[in-house]
Amino acid sequence: GRTFRALCPFHSEKHPSFFVYLEQQSWHCFGACNTGGDIFSFIMKKEGIDFGEALRLLAQKAGVTIPSRFEQDTGKEERERLYQVDQAAAQYFHNLLLNSPAGEKARSYLDSRGLSPKTIADFQLGFSLNSWDALKQYLMERGYTESELLTAGLVIEAEAGETHDRFRNRLMFPIHDIRGRIVGFGARVLDDSLPKYLNSPQTLVFDKSSCLYGINLAAAAIRQQNLAVIVEGYMDVITAHQNGFNNVVASMGTSVTE
Ligand SMILES: [Zn+2]
Repeated sequence: GRTFRALCPFHSEKHPSFFVYLEQQSWHCFGACNTGGDIFSFIMKKEGIDFGEALRLLAQKAGVTIPSRFEQDTGKEERERLYQVDQAAAQYFHNLLLNSPAGEKARSYLDSRGLSPKTIADFQLGFSLNSWDALKQYLMERGYTESELLTAGLVIEAEAGETHDRFRNRLMFPIHDIRGRIVGFGARVLDDSLPKYLNSPQTLVFDKSSCLYGINLAAAAIRQQNLAVIVEGYMDVITAHQNGFNNVVASMGTSVTE
């Protein structure tokens, strides 16, 4: 049968001892791991998740809907909607950073910090306009309700029930969970305004105390090296990754600064 040989993704090695058997759809590491399995055990080991999560992850990638007996928890649809609206907001902010005239000051700030276009794309950095309702209008035109935007913490309620964008005129840092879903945002001013940093509030999908910024990009390296480096700020994580230190994350538990 057809066999591929590669460096093992689960332990450090110089000579490939990781085999993939196409016909059997299985893998085995004959090196330090001395273990193997199928696609499910591979994803479970690589992502550090249980079988149910691996199943959902693979199904999601394959565009398959999982029967409801695998869904134990309630509120799933509401959470899915939050992931979607956060993702839509992140794409909106990212596009503004890359392409809008107003994003120029954010672009030059990132340039002054030496961030490459690839790094900016990897971390999906963005820019929010100096507007009270640009994001709100954009998302509502795409079918999200004001109530959903409030629940996601993307707008805040002001006097007399009026809502407006929470993040204005800021560099935007989408915060991902380990599965790469956006759960919230950090936002930094580009001038001397206060507060310097503003985060999403706690939501159904965002709990600062259990969040590690950069974990979606760092998880594999952390497992491979069996070592996580925890730093204080978003920019520290991003700069570390750009320089090849991929096991670096930031704790969100305390206020994130530079
Ligand atoms: Zn191995």
